[in-house]
Amino acid sequence: MNALLQLTRIVQAAAQAEETDDQVRLIVEAIHRSMGVEVCSLYIAAADGSMLLAATEGLDPRAVGHSSLPPGRGLVGRVAQTRHPVVVADAPAHPDFCYLAETHEDEFRSFCGVPVVRAGAVIGVLVVQSREPRLMSEEEQAFLVTLATQLALVLPTEPLASAGGSNTLRRVRGVKGAPGTGIGQAWLCDTVDLYAVPDRPCEDVEAAIDEWRQLLAQVSADVETERRSMEQELSEGVAAVFSAYQMLLNDPGLRLGVEQAIAQGNWLPGALRQVVHHYAELFRAMEDPYLKARHEDLHHLGNKLYQAWSGAPEHRPQGIDGPIILVGDKVSVSDIAACDPQRLAGIVCFSGSSLSHTAVLANALGVAAVMGTGKLKGVDNGVPLIVDGNVGQVIVHPSASVRREFERLQYAEQALKGELAGLRDLPATTTDGVRIRLLANTGLLADISPGLANGAEGIGLYRTEMPFMISDTFPSEEDQVNTYSQVLAAYRGRPVYMRILDIGGDKPLPYFPIHEDNPALGWRGIRFCLDNSALLMTQVRAMLRAAAGGEELHILLPMISNTGEIVAFHALLDDALAQLTEEGLPVRRPPVGIMVEVPAAISLLPAWAKRLDFVSIGSNDLSQYLLALDRNNPRVAGAYDHIHPAVLQEIARIARITRETGLPLSLCGEMASDPAAVLFLLGTGVRQLSMSASKLPRIKWLLRSITETEAADLTGRALQLDNSQAIRTLLENALHERGLGRLLGSE
Ligand code: PEP
Ligand code: MG
Repeated sequence: MNALLQLTRIVQAAAQAEETDDQVRLIVEAIHRSMGVEVCSLYIAAADGSMLLAATEGLDPRAVGHSSLPPGRGLVGRVAQTRHPVVVADAPAHPDFCYLAETHEDEFRSFCGVPVVRAGAVIGVLVVQSREPRLMSEEEQAFLVTLATQLALVLPTEPLASAGGSNTLRRVRGVKGAPGTGIGQAWLCDTVDLYAVPDRPCEDVEAAIDEWRQLLAQVSADVETERRSMEQELSEGVAAVFSAYQMLLNDPGLRLGVEQAIAQGNWLPGALRQVVHHYAELFRAMEDPYLKARHEDLHHLGNKLYQAWSGAPEHRPQGIDGPIILVGDKVSVSDIAACDPQRLAGIVCFSGSSLSHTAVLANALGVAAVMGTGKLKGVDNGVPLIVDGNVGQVIVHPSASVRREFERLQYAEQALKGELAGLRDLPATTTDGVRIRLLANTGLLADISPGLANGAEGIGLYRTEMPFMISDTFPSEEDQVNTYSQVLAAYRGRPVYMRILDIGGDKPLPYFPIHEDNPALGWRGIRFCLDNSALLMTQVRAMLRAAAGGEELHILLPMISNTGEIVAFHALLDDALAQLTEEGLPVRRPPVGIMVEVPAAISLLPAWAKRLDFVSIGSNDLSQYLLALDRNNPRVAGAYDHIHPAVLQEIARIARITRETGLPLSLCGEMASDPAAVLFLLGTGVRQLSMSASKLPRIKWLLRSITETEAADLTGRALQLDNSQAIRTLLENALHERGLGRLLGSE
């Protein structure tokens, strides 16, 4: 048991090693030492299914990275195919044995191999061998199986290249950043890294503070210049991302924080790192994936400030003819601005998610992007790449035939884009005349323009958390009035659904830390707001004041699970209205509705109908709570699916209840932009959908291409099925049959 504990620690320590090769080598050495065997080796599955010797202690080290077993061959191939341990007393005598001459493994008789499995797929095989012909014991097998489980956690997501050398085709998986296909050559954006800056004593505090103020002004001017240059050449949506940078640059938290850190004795770059890192980590710890992704904006901006301070020259692509694929740990907005827009074909980020601003920008620019690939080994400036943003993968060194296939796909995509541009001002009406309203989800002021540019009929979900996150204290009523007024003014005459603060749990505010063992089930949403009614009163007053004289404002309540919460909110709203009327403001009572996110709300909807003006399904949280699956936990992310039959049954139930009670119904989770799910939702009677702006044109195209009758028939059939895969197949086949298959690669 002690040995196991020791090895578990070694695996965890190895996980800290920078390079995967080092991690694997450390683990193999440790197993070799602890088990007292003659050989311990790790084989890793290559993209083509062959098993490549990735590390060994005991076989000829020159074979590492070269010796490879074709798919299914040898005892190692058998382990991978059966997904079971294989234990053999005399390996060379076994019919499946396949001798790899360069390893000299025929000296070793006893063999035990166990699969390394992640998310259901075999990613490697861990093997121990010894000279004596003996069957390894049950304990030894159990020991290896346990280690293989640990190994699965640290091995890279990127399959290793097969033994054919570094210029062979290789596929690297990431996550979808922006749809589309980009074909070009890599350009590495190896910008400076602020996070690597050490602390140093500050020689002259006053001079450093002066220098900091000038730096802020200079970078703010640079950002403005970059914004203008891109705004002229490209879409309107691009400018919005720059506004987010300006907002951060103007934030007193950043300005004063750095001044304070300098005053406490750190030199300027150290002080900058300290403050940027502090705020970035606050964002990173947030539960909401949108807000979580904002930590990258801060890191980008920090790097930009540091680069300007160090006087390092701008890093512009050169020496490459033709289309460029920007590649980097974090490709920043400035990297994108420095690239000739006519030649920018794709973006690959080693880290980040589909919610990063790099992805938001790529969407606005219509450039394919793949995020979170992990470090791309062997990719240098000029290496040919294909960025497949539809699937979330990167092809390194594509062969001529693969390249031709992607060029064909690119051609088809361009044809589709041309068709969609014309839909901007047309209504989303099915071919049998059913009108669906399509709205945009936003969180930052900066996200307003993309919605308008894509024809949003309003804002279906405005996440008010943002002004609270970027402040040093709770924003004042005036600050909030200012922010909300801008949102409402941009959508004058169209509905804006503002959600009250959905904070709490592990979405901490810097000035209001909350620590809980089970944050998803804790003090969040309406529970937090009602317990802090002074804050809620300020927010509601600000919303009402910003909305005075118009009819845009609708108020959305998050995480509602009992009647008392709705009653308490209405009482507070009455109070706010009375106060403002007394102050002489022409306020009106806005429609109030709830997010259906907690399953308990569904059963209570009939009883609540008279207290509510509308209902919006938050399918992200509803799926999470119905399936008891954390939507942000990569270990279970594969099982999280809003097309799960239980989720669909509940949505159909909500649709029936709202129809019977006359409550207007909309849906504002990710499901609203999944084409297969949209077919189902249309069939259940949902008539309003809200999604990220870039998804609007495709969903509009889908809705304008089908009949509601067909959708209702499919919904009926989907509700008879008991597994997600069968339902997805049914709905996707229907899209293919109607010539809408092109939407599926690019949801
Ligand atoms: C949801 O839960 O579906 C939703 C839209 O809210 P959020 O993603 O902000 O939790
Ligand atoms: Mg939610």
